Amino acid sequence: MDEDIFYDSQLLLKAIERADRIHREVHGDYVTLERALFLSWWCDIGDCRFCYMSTQKPRLKDPIKARRKPWSILAEAELCSRIGWRIEFLSSGYGSYDAPEIKEIAEMVAFVTRRPVWLNIGALKKEELEVFGEEICGVIGSIETINEEIRSRVCPSKPIPRIIEMLDEAKDKGLKTGITIILGLGETIEDIPRLMDFISDFKLDRVTYYSLNPHTGTIFENSPSPASLYQAGVIALTRINFPKIEIIGGTWVDQLPNIGPMLLAGVNGLTKYPLFNIFGNKYGKKVEEEIKFANRKIIGTFSDIEVLMGNKKLNESSDLYRMLPVKAPKVSKSAVDKVNYFRERIEDMKENYIKGVLGKTSRKSTKVF
Ligand code: SF4
Repeated sequence: MDEDIFYDSQLLLKAIERADRIHREVHGDYVTLERALFLSWWCDIGDCRFCYMSTQKPRLKDPIKARRKPWSILAEAELCSRIGWRIEFLSSGYGSYDAPEIKEIAEMVAFVTRRPVWLNIGALKKEELEVFGEEICGVIGSIETINEEIRSRVCPSKPIPRIIEMLDEAKDKGLKTGITIILGLGETIEDIPRLMDFISDFKLDRVTYYSLNPHTGTIFENSPSPASLYQAGVIALTRINFPKIEIIGGTWVDQLPNIGPMLLAGVNGLTKYPLFNIFGNKYGKKVEEEIKFANRKIIGTFSDIEVLMGNKKLNESSDLYRMLPVKAPKVSKSAVDKVNYFRERIEDMKENYIKGVLGKTSRKSTKVF
């Protein structure tokens, strides 16, 4: 029984050892840095009990005003490309944009990053999925937890059947599919076999495992994040059961020591970090140390300020475009024209983001190093 690894430390160590071996055979030894590109603070649903956006719902009245400016989204996307990070997916709450608007953003992001994007923007209907073309490569269903009783309390308004429909329809359309799971919502070890069945039944291409980030103002604010070895154990079982699947592991800044165990357990990529707050400072460097001591090679950088500033290029061995090449998608002329129209504002935003990083880095460096 898979879940026995959580009751026997020797079994857990053996599972991690096996997952690490499988991972290296199938995926090699590199690891990607992933960035969920956030599009809006709005969510029509707004009642998922763990979600930061649910705490903002009473404050926000206008979905249009809650949108992030397109030049800010594009500036972040361009800087991610420069430092070798992948856009994990475009992310927004339900009802922030309609499908043609999301398509336009996806086209612009795909154009500036030269890669198709994944969408994590709610359960899209079939006719909405039809709007998209080669600017997207996959869709994510926010399952969060497979435990039905917890799910009905924690995500009362986004039922699983509608998400499953989207995953099926996306597969029929030739898209990749993935899910997000938040570990630490109260699920039990007995739920894990059902999670493995779910991954198998829907032939998922990707799973993102977040550890609970107990946001202030939510019912979880005094809950602990899950144990590092629990998160690693779930990831190891996923890697062992699904050698080819892409696994992304997410921890918040206060859980950075979880990274090493997640890497040994077989994650392909790391996510959930506040990029512009920790790039180049002790936290960004800590992520790189965790990667180094798991004997993995990093794609991109979390610390090289010269690369972020555009004064220097990444080494070939950490260059995303060389190590993980994909065909650049075709996008509409109107999307390209719009990027050109925003160019000056995109450059200003990039400068602002870099200035913010430099400010935090120099403050930290005076204080810490
Ligand atoms: S649907 Fe997504 S964005 Fe909206 S409240 Fe739930 S988790 Fe948050």
